[in-house]
Amino acid sequence: MSKSFKFLLFAGFLLWNISSKAQNEVYESPVKQEIPDTSFVNLKDFSKDFVYDMKYATEDNFLKAKVYDCAECFLRMKTVKALIEANNDFKKKGFRIKLYDCYRPLSIQKRMWEIVSNPNYVADPKKGSIHNRGGAVDISIVDSNGKEVDMGTPFDFFGIEASHDYAKLSKKVKSNRKFLKKIMIKNGFNSFDSEWWHYNLKTGLKDKVSNQNWKCE
Ligand SMILES: [Zn+2]
Repeated sequence: MSKSFKFLLFAGFLLWNISSKAQNEVYESPVKQEIPDTSFVNLKDFSKDFVYDMKYATEDNFLKAKVYDCAECFLRMKTVKALIEANNDFKKKGFRIKLYDCYRPLSIQKRMWEIVSNPNYVADPKKGSIHNRGGAVDISIVDSNGKEVDMGTPFDFFGIEASHDYAKLSKKVKSNRKFLKKIMIKNGFNSFDSEWWHYNLKTGLKDKVSNQNWKCE
């Protein structure tokens, strides 16, 4: 074999090796698939920094019935993203978000409406709530000891005292509600006048109402 032929063979082998390696690299590390913003996801798969008190997975709610099989917080991906951003802001100040309710299947909305047919507190299932669209959350905040911040009324208190502009609240309660509202609005949510705990993702009304149920492990 001539020297130049040997060299060509070697160079060819080298080139083949490099190109096959490059191809392999593409196959070995597939591009991470971006989850569409409107997909339903479980919040706990994206953050461990939330506190859960999913009231409808217990009997401690106004329905007096456990209507969810397990205490999971499902939301659209875009709601999860905004909520994590909001929680990061709360964490910087020593607080964390506590969740009471997230996505709510339409069938549950119908049961709620049968008990409380007042649109100030429960959305008419004919229109559907943003909870049914995966864009609403019912929340409060807890301090660094896990103690819930005083918001003046419990969650799902169906009375005037639960509204944001109720005047006869202590200064502390007013400032706590204001703090919650300020951070949530900054991160893409709207507040709801008659319920201090309810927040809607600003773009949440665009999505379809769903009756999809999640699987419990
Ligand atoms: Zn709500």
